[in-house]
Amino acid sequence: MGDQGMYSLDVVDGKKQDATTKKWYRSAPHRIFVNRSLHLENIKFYGFDMDYTLAEYKSPEYEILGFDLVKERMVSIGYPQEILEFEYDTSFPVRGLWFDTHYGNLLKVDAYGNILVCAHGFEFLKHSQVYELYPNKFLTLDESRVYVLNTLFNLPETYLLACLVDFFTNSPQYTKSKTGVKCGDMFMSFKSIFQDVRNAVDFVHIQGDQLKKRTTENLEKYVNKDDRLPMFLTRLRESGAKTFLLTNSGYNFTDKIMTYLFDFPHGARPEEPHKNWKTYFDTIVVDARKPLFFGEGTILRQVNPETGALRVGIHTGPFQKEHVYSGGSCDVFTELIGAKGKDVLYVGDHIFGDILKSKKIRGWRTFLIVPELVQELHVWTDKCQLFDDLQKLDVKLGEMYKNLDSSTKEKPDISKLRASIRDATHKMDMSYGMMGSLFRSGSRQTFFSSQVVRYADLYAATHLNLLYYPFSYMFRAPAMLLPHESTVAHEQRFVLESPYVSRSKVFSMDDETDVKTSQHKVLERSQSQIPHVRPETPRSVTHNHDEDFSDDDSDKTSAKNGEKSD
Ligand SMILES: [Mg+2]
Repeated sequence: MGDQGMYSLDVVDGKKQDATTKKWYRSAPHRIFVNRSLHLENIKFYGFDMDYTLAEYKSPEYEILGFDLVKERMVSIGYPQEILEFEYDTSFPVRGLWFDTHYGNLLKVDAYGNILVCAHGFEFLKHSQVYELYPNKFLTLDESRVYVLNTLFNLPETYLLACLVDFFTNSPQYTKSKTGVKCGDMFMSFKSIFQDVRNAVDFVHIQGDQLKKRTTENLEKYVNKDDRLPMFLTRLRESGAKTFLLTNSGYNFTDKIMTYLFDFPHGARPEEPHKNWKTYFDTIVVDARKPLFFGEGTILRQVNPETGALRVGIHTGPFQKEHVYSGGSCDVFTELIGAKGKDVLYVGDHIFGDILKSKKIRGWRTFLIVPELVQELHVWTDKCQLFDDLQKLDVKLGEMYKNLDSSTKEKPDISKLRASIRDATHKMDMSYGMMGSLFRSGSRQTFFSSQVVRYADLYAATHLNLLYYPFSYMFRAPAMLLPHESTVAHEQRFVLESPYVSRSKVFSMDDETDVKTSQHKVLERSQSQIPHVRPETPRSVTHNHDEDFSDDDSDKTSAKNGEKSD
């Protein structure tokens, strides 16, 4: 992602890159994007989350359902009836926003907490207003104050928070203050509104039966299904890998959703008969309680698939095929399936529950599903005119300052140009939605982006994009270019103006003599008390920059080189 900056990389320093030097890529909708290189051949276990990974909920239908249920719950705990009039608006919320419970603001921030966009209710705050509330337009991620709306399940509540803050701060019967609203002698802080929404969402998802009931009664309305799924999982296993399902959902719900996802007259191939969904997985774990699963976990039990009830006692011994387990922990699980961390590629949609924790704690390789990529890539390519315009404006800006240096007295008037750049950036942001892109705001990347880069080895709009790659595929990460790299072409002549001390030692891999040795005063070995007077430049490959070299690869390389130099 980092290399994709503002502009297309086809043009570096105004020079078009030759088509023959360009790497061939699969078409964007089918592509899997790479943050860290990964050799698919080394993956022995493919694990899948269910909700929003194998089962993609339809947007906006599913968000509307969640939004309506949370609204109803809010009214049932005493919120005014009027809030039922709010209708879910897909163009407003974007995933990954922070909710500042102190001031009741939705914030779009960059990787470090610098505020890019700030909305109080439906009102977007101006630069100066943001400065007044947040010194240096910055906020620390303090969990007692900030809630990160990370998942797709958070979208309805993101919008509901905006609706409620807007309602209470603008309704005549309430008086606005900095941290909440007053009505008579009652004070309602934004924090308490947030807490009520959070509890209502938990109620709808956990205790209440309505969300699950309505989903399972109208599966076609709320869940996408793809007839390539049985083929996909079968191909994975035919490649020699094992598959597992690891979901936080309970057994009964999981069974209904998975049965629907595999509800085709055929099996893996058109001529094969339909098979039960459980036959496509080597291991099935429900009620996993991720992210807890990746830490201390819970007790591992077996589920009775007839009743959905848990069998008493802790499960020990190997997992049985087509049996269903509940809970457990990553440690126990990994040991029972006989895996090492890097053997596992876990596919999930939740950056904290599925990805961040599995990567940080267990070293599983990670594949993040970002359904929004479909829309993001659509804008990225459809609005290429806007990106072009912006690039042209930047070229103009360069021209204005071209022949000027510190001797220049006159000041070129760039005000028009600046306004045009701001307009073009705004138009670009708005083509994604009111909060702009999930990944950026103008030229700045979001907090969500930084999390994706940091924790997801791979990411794509859907897990089914794996169908477009052979199982021997080497996913290689593109270089993440810094400004001094992305704006300076390799072939550009760079003349050193002053002599500098070279950090590069010159030697030949084949040459046994170190050409630099002569520059140092060499002590006779017998005179020296120090084992090594200075470090020696490695003559063979000693470290890999990609995470995906197996130990075998590097051992073989060093063994080979070892033989040579001895
Ligand atoms: Mg999920």
